[in-house]
Amino acid sequence: MTFDRRSFLRTAGFASVAAAVANFTESQFALAQRPDMPRFSRDAVFINANENPLGPCDAALAAMASAVVDCGRYRDDLTVDLIHLFAEQFGLRPEYVSPYPGSSQPLTYSVWAFADKERPVVVGDPGYEAAGHTAAFAGIPSIKVPLTSTYAHDVKGMVAASPNAGLYYIASPNNPTGTVTPRADVEWLLANKPKGSIVLLDEAYIHFSDATPCLDLVAQDKDIVVLRTFSKLYGMAGARLGLVVARPDLMKKIEAIGGWTFCPVTAVQGGIAALKDTTVVAKRKQLNAAARQETFEWLTSKSFSFVPSEANHFMLDTKRPTKQVIDSMAAKKIYIGRAWPAWPTHVRITVGTRDEMARFRAAFEEVMAQPLNANIPSHTHTRTELFS
Ligand code: PLP
Repeated sequence: MTFDRRSFLRTAGFASVAAAVANFTESQFALAQRPDMPRFSRDAVFINANENPLGPCDAALAAMASAVVDCGRYRDDLTVDLIHLFAEQFGLRPEYVSPYPGSSQPLTYSVWAFADKERPVVVGDPGYEAAGHTAAFAGIPSIKVPLTSTYAHDVKGMVAASPNAGLYYIASPNNPTGTVTPRADVEWLLANKPKGSIVLLDEAYIHFSDATPCLDLVAQDKDIVVLRTFSKLYGMAGARLGLVVARPDLMKKIEAIGGWTFCPVTAVQGGIAALKDTTVVAKRKQLNAAARQETFEWLTSKSFSFVPSEANHFMLDTKRPTKQVIDSMAAKKIYIGRAWPAWPTHVRITVGTRDEMARFRAAFEEVMAQPLNANIPSHTHTRTELFS
């Protein structure tokens, strides 16, 4: 039996939606790459999923701990506080801000809300796979457009790729490259895209970079939806908190797919405390940049190739089958990220602490000194690829 999930959703209405919409998250992608991933342990180095080894900042930790006693209540009032705080800090009206338990959900719902069989999703390549996987799951076509020579999203190529796209997905900084798509390109896309299409700008890693944020384009009522998350710089990936920022008419369409999703009381309290800490972004941006720069200098001194990044991860060219490198690193308890089919010899490395990066460097040098085994493939099938 063939099953058109979109028309099913449209006719079956709200209650059935949750059963049909699948979310894709970085942790799933990381796990799919290594189904045999060991339990987390502090004596191994996990630089495979773009997490923040620092965890929540002190203010967030204290707020989350004291929020535990409130977990018997739904405390929607705290969610309202979070909305108002974020809106006030970024010059938005509160109805333009909606929290979710992570940004993965509104990312998924945006694909369902703004694209369909006749209006494809256009993404960068290599790029974060969630939009493309969601499209495949929903029976929506998606088009991959290679990044430019400076590793930005090729906005002109993205417009040329489809005259009737429904959604353009851009992560800036990008996952996996950590490279920025300049704001001027986002503005060009908004001015030149087909009428009725939406730009989904994912600013998950914006705090690590010098990129100019684009929240004000939402405030100006442009056709843009911006995603933010507390999973990256704020170190709260396991707490689950993200925000979608959009015009109320676009927000309504996103909520029509996934509904209002309740966020854990602890995460909301932690998020409020993190936003109120005016030092955390600059402090953590600097720490990440220092560990990243130290690693880049070492890689350069050893003649290894990498793509310079403005985020907490970067692409490293192993110039050999990636599985051999990934498995050999894992044997040394250094768990690195995955490869993208478009760049079969590159692997994504998350920037850990300086100590973790020192361990990474020592192991990587040993692994690269091993003889090349040409029989090992470059890319393993992931679980998500298998069911998309
Ligand atoms: N967007 C990008 C570009 C990501 O890399 C990730 C996770 O790594 C997410 C969104 C989802 O993050 P979360 O659902 O934890 O907010």
